[in-house]
Amino acid sequence: MKLTGGIWTGEESRLSLERVVKELGERFRGSLLRDYPLSRLTTFRVGGPAALVAMPIDEGDIQIVLEKTSEHNLPLLVMGKGSNLLCSDRGFPGVVLLMRKRGKPHIDENGQLEVEAAIPLNTVIAHCVARGRGGLEELVGIPGTVGGAIWMNAGANQKDISQCLVEIYICEPEKGMSWSWRPKSDFPFSYRYSGIGNRLIYKAILKTYSCDVEELRNLCHNYQEKRKATQPLSRPSAGSVFKNGENYQAGELIERCGCKGWRVGDALVSRKHANFIVNMGKASAREILELIEMVRAKVYEMERVQLELEIELVGF
Ligand SMILES: Cc1cc2nc3c(=O)[nH]c(=O)nc-3n(C[C@H](O)[C@H](O)[C@H](O)COP(=O)(O)OP(=O)(O)OC[C@H]3O[C@@H](n4cnc5c(N)ncnc54)[C@H](O)[C@@H]3O)c2cc1C
Repeated sequence: MKLTGGIWTGEESRLSLERVVKELGERFRGSLLRDYPLSRLTTFRVGGPAALVAMPIDEGDIQIVLEKTSEHNLPLLVMGKGSNLLCSDRGFPGVVLLMRKRGKPHIDENGQLEVEAAIPLNTVIAHCVARGRGGLEELVGIPGTVGGAIWMNAGANQKDISQCLVEIYICEPEKGMSWSWRPKSDFPFSYRYSGIGNRLIYKAILKTYSCDVEELRNLCHNYQEKRKATQPLSRPSAGSVFKNGENYQAGELIERCGCKGWRVGDALVSRKHANFIVNMGKASAREILELIEMVRAKVYEMERVQLELEIELVGF
């Protein structure tokens, strides 16, 4: 279970936050932002302020944030590109550890790719394509970081990232914040699930294979064109709202139930892809959540299927 909400009990927690800010200020080398709007950090463009956003520059910074939030019992959210999150209008009452791009990917002589979790997946794919390394191209267009993709086992075009994964370098709060390389086989990867829980992914090794550059470029182009044709990419969203089931595509069920075009305030069930909810301008998280519940209830009423969320709720 990830810690993404809940222990904000007023004065006591505010004091904890002040202490954490003070103690971080003494050792933390990256940037700290107070009361920063999550709407600026998420692809849905919604969400109230995070009490504190910490942007680490290295492993040491990450370690300090993990230690201090745990010591002072403050909620912690590790965030990549915020492309799979619906953050509450009230914001997040703790520390957001924002994983942003740092080092360059590196491919060794055996085709193994070592990459920092904070790097956008699309940057890594472009790096591989330019060097004639295949394996990840099916995932092109997923707007998250490598860490976010591994954490939720992102996938597209019958491929998910765990199929390319060799090992991850993680920090484990439950093991005294220890860092270690762990093989993929240590985790129960399945459809949009990794089992990584509240461990932090710092680096990963992915396997690639030799491939013709032109062929890879064409494949990526075709996958991108398919996205453009089927997904409402010009509006803010968090991608597919619900998971597909073994016997159904969530988008097809939603469409069959007549929910396309349903709207609450500025939150709209896309007419292009029924499993996307888009922000038409000033949608609030509350409006999006209300729409999600309406769609879920309709699909249950008509199809007797309980849709499961693919996006993650934060701070509700
Ligand atoms: C237009 C659009 C299209 C999309 N298409 C797809 C698609 O085809 N397939 C698909 O699977 N998804 C898709 N998504 C959803 C999303 O892009 C993916 O889930 C992506 O992998 C999330 O990565 P992120 O960096 O944005 O993670 P975030 O949204 O920031 O975080 C998601 C989860 O990962 C955790 N996390 C992030 N980084 C780390 C880390 N370093 N260590 C530990 N935990 C971490 C967070 O705590 C959170 O629980 C789409 C989204 C959009 C907006």
